Amino acid sequence: MADALHRLDDEISDCFACPRLVAWREEVAVVKRAAFRDQTYWGRPVPGFGPGDARIGILGLAPAAHGGNRTGRIFTGDRSGDVLFAAMHRAGLANQPTSVSADDGLTINNTRIFAAVRCAPPDNKPTPEERDRCAPFLHRELTLIRPTLRVVIALGAFAWAAWWPAMRAVYGVRPPSPRPAFGHGAQWTAENVPTLLGCYHVSQQNTFTGRLTPAMLDDVFARARSLAA
Ligand code: SF4
Repeated sequence: MADALHRLDDEISDCFACPRLVAWREEVAVVKRAAFRDQTYWGRPVPGFGPGDARIGILGLAPAAHGGNRTGRIFTGDRSGDVLFAAMHRAGLANQPTSVSADDGLTINNTRIFAAVRCAPPDNKPTPEERDRCAPFLHRELTLIRPTLRVVIALGAFAWAAWWPAMRAVYGVRPPSPRPAFGHGAQWTAENVPTLLGCYHVSQQNTFTGRLTPAMLDDVFARARSLAA
């Protein structure tokens, strides 16, 4: 299974299916941000991160232009990752509280992190067509980790919405209608599928304004750990 995940990660990293996103990720990698001008950007799709026998999944929107798209690892090298991995470290799910580069020694346990869209989109907004084109990667990843996966934390409304077609594709379970509304702390449970937990996205917009606090993240991870036990 680990081999299958690695093969999927490799396949994702070599995808060129979305012309607009390919152009954007490569342009960002050439233009760069001034602070990173000496670095070689990854400039490709960003695969999932974490062990294949994870019980907790963390579903994000897409890599950040100067974070994952620069470092090649999801939530790595930006403020969102700082907040996320600090919380995971407090929860005992990461060996260190920082995530600055793909070779920084970070390891996470019991958790796999992935995004609904694997390429950094302009303005963090993939089109519906790009979302749907990338969705099979998420579905295949979920299929591989399905045997152990018990909880999925959806970071933000986009990830929450991406869960329903994934659940149908991977578990063959029809999503509820109407769909449960996203909210921080929202929880949706059904038989034979992972519990879905809603969490405000760890974006600067939320963490700098206090909409999402470290205590709120700690509560989500405590619940996820409890549900996954
Ligand atoms: S968003 Fe997904 S489908 Fe589109 S190019 Fe990137 S990896 Fe491929």
